[in-house]
Formats: sequence, C-alpha cells, structure tokens
Amino acid sequence: MRGPDWIAAVVAALPRHHPFPAVEVAGDGSAVITVIAPDRATSRPPRELPDASYRIDTSPADIRITCTEPAGLVAALRTVGCLTVDGSLACGTIEDTPAFRYRGVHLDVCRHFFTADFVKRYIDVIAALGFNVFHWHLTEDQGWRIPIDSWPQLIATGSHRTEADGSRYGGAYSRAEIADVVAHAGSLGVLVIPEIELPGHAQAAIASYRRLGCRGEPVPVWNEWGISKEVFCAGNDDVFGFLADVFDVVTDLFPSRYIHIGGDECPRDRWMECPRCRQRMQDQALADADQLQSYFVRRAARMLEGLGRTAIGWDEILEGGLPEGTVVMSWRGTDGGRAAASAGNDAIMTPLSPCYFNMMHIAHDPDDVAVSTEDVFAFDPAAGLDPRSAGRVLGGQACLWTEGIETEEKAQRMLMPRLLAMSEALWSADPARDFTEFSARARSWLRRFEESGWSVTPLDRA
Ligand SMILES: [Zn+2]
Repeated sequence: MRGPDWIAAVVAALPRHHPFPAVEVAGDGSAVITVIAPDRATSRPPRELPDASYRIDTSPADIRITCTEPAGLVAALRTVGCLTVDGSLACGTIEDTPAFRYRGVHLDVCRHFFTADFVKRYIDVIAALGFNVFHWHLTEDQGWRIPIDSWPQLIATGSHRTEADGSRYGGAYSRAEIADVVAHAGSLGVLVIPEIELPGHAQAAIASYRRLGCRGEPVPVWNEWGISKEVFCAGNDDVFGFLADVFDVVTDLFPSRYIHIGGDECPRDRWMECPRCRQRMQDQALADADQLQSYFVRRAARMLEGLGRTAIGWDEILEGGLPEGTVVMSWRGTDGGRAAASAGNDAIMTPLSPCYFNMMHIAHDPDDVAVSTEDVFAFDPAAGLDPRSAGRVLGGQACLWTEGIETEEKAQRMLMPRLLAMSEALWSADPARDFTEFSARARSWLRRFEESGWSVTPLDRA
C-alpha cells in the first residue's frame, strides 16, 4: 500500500471490537484495495472539519479508493464493507460526499464520569457511522475533568463532589489520556472539540479557587442537577488570567480550529450584587447584565482568536450581542442558529428535540418529552432556511447529557438506534429518505452492535 503515513494509521486504528464492516487492506503493495491520497501534512493546528468525501472505482482487477483525508478513507472502507456480498463487490464507481460538513456527537463527562477507554470506544462507533466531530464536555458545576498544571486544585478539589449520602464521586483525565483520545480520534477522521464552560456552569472551578467567583466565599463542587448561581466573576481580571492559562493548555492538547466555550444558562444573581461586576458594567458602559454576559463571552472568544482558534457557544451567546466570528450552537430550538446564520455567523443545529439523546425514546405520559428514532431520522438542520442562510449551517449534532446516565451500558442504550438515524440525517440530504427502508438496515446494524457487546434499545421501543 502506497501513500502518506496516515493511511497506515487509519487501517491500524480501525476498531476490532465493534461492528465496523470487515475490510482487509493489504500493506505489501499488492493491495486488494489501493488508496489514492495526497501526501500532505495533516498534523498542524488549527485542524479544520475533516473532509469525508471519497470515490471508489471497482474493476475486476482491483478496488481503488480516492480521498484526501482519514475521514474519507474510513467512510469509503465502511461503504466497501457494506456493499461486499459473499466476498464480492460489484464493479462500478461510487462518488460520495456528506450533506453537512459538521456531523457531531457530544458526551457530557461531568454529571457522570466516563473513562478515557470508554471515550475511545464511543469515538470508534461515531467514526464508523460517518460522524466527524466528537464534542467533549469537560467542565461543569458538578466536576472539572481536564488538568491545568498551574491550577492544580481544579483536579485536587474540582474533580470530585460529595453526594447527598456522603459518598465521593468524580474522576479526571490525565494529559496523556486526553492526547491519546485526540490522536485516536484523528486517525479515524474525527475532530475532538473540547468544551470549557463559561461564564456559568463554573461551580467546580470556583470550589477549587474561591476567588474566581463574585463572593470569594467557599462553595462545594455541586451535588445537585440544574443551573447553579455560582458563576465566574465578570469584574475580576484574574478570572481572565485563569482562562488564558486554561486556553493555553486546551489549545496545546486539542488541534481543533473550534473550541467550545459554553455560554449557556448563566444566572445574573451574583453579578448584580457584586461591586466589581457593577464597576465593570460602568467602565464598559454596559446597559444591563445581558451585555455583561456578552462582554465576558466576547473577551473569551477574542482570547481564542488570538490563539488562532474559533469559539463555539450555545445560543445564549446571542444575548446582549453576538460576538463577531463565533459559531452558534443552537439548542433551544433552531431560532438561535437561524438568527446567527442570517447575521452572517456560522451555526450548528442541535435542537433539544430531536437532538438530545438523553431524552426518553418514547413518551409514557402526555407531559413527557420524547425523541423517537423516527423524529431523529426526519431531522434537517437547514430546514426552511433561504440558500444564503442555509450555507451558514455547518451541520448538526446529537448530544448526550448525563444527569440520568450513570453507566456505560445506559449511555449505549440511549444512543442506539437514534445515532443510526442521526448519521443518515446528516450524511444524506435526499428528501426521499424513507424510514421504513431505513428501519430494515438499522435492524441489521443493531444486531451487529449487540454482537459486539453494545447495548441497544430495540427499534420497536425507540
Ligand atoms: Zn463579580
């Protein structure tokens, strides 16, 4: 097999422990499959969204795959595996490119902690299904999971909480584990986008260093679910010094062009009673607390811009004025993403329904919010947008928030089969997509997942 080193890396990384279609790529030049790809460096940050386009030419003599990046090779090998019947593949040409450039899957490792080993297996699965982004939610009120050497209490204190029954719960990754996850994902054509939450969802950081909050009083790492009032002080420049240290580490560990900075669900209670925050509003001529939120997010986004990166924020970053150049991740419906797109910003659609896979599959009571596999299958991130705005929609994302997901087994069960439907929704723009036809294929994938040890929810209950 000829070509750049990453081809060998992709083949080596193809997972053996989940239902990746079995494809053998010979490495001795007499390849069953020949990969044609440019030999160009892909390792320098900032890394853009991986391009999964590919072409397959099959003749009686050989199979040729043409692609430019690992994501394209992974997608092509999946197609070859799926189309191979009894060891044979029909001759012909396939050219394939996904409908959306951003096809993401998210995991919250803060409400409940998941090991680096599980995270890698999670990435194996999303890579096999054609997703190209893993959004890793690393900091929260309930736990801080990424080590920042110059702020050691973030792990010593912030990574564990005391539960109501007195037990301790938590966990964190080492830098080596994070680097290993990023490299593994990269070899499978998946970009890892980390999320550092600000200015809200910051109680674990404030529990570690009380001076990061407005009151300067001790608070515990939170052991409840919901929205904490303990948020970063917007009037204290030390907070931005802290964030500069965090961003230095984050941009060192993560080559992604995009860094997620949260921006959601930030109560203004502490700010309104804080002399430094009020002083900031006065100094910056900010009319209200919404503008103070915008000031905070804008300043953080600018810091990342200075490091050559682009900030993504939840749609609350629209409040008080949208920072130029930031990407809006729209979760409270799609209005935020639509507003961002029409303002000329990029947007990623992950409306709670049908993109939050922590919601139950099927409603049991009239008041239940459920997200069925069929709802996910019908998802179109660019639905109803004029062509100019639609061009600003990078794609969509499935999110897995883990307040109610304590185990790997439950995480798997909540993902499947909805992740199969999301994969199809983001890859194929074909308006004639048919759920009944999809269901037959989904059942065979679900069998493969079960055989490889993944827990799934049966399609008739999802
Ligand atoms: Zn303050």
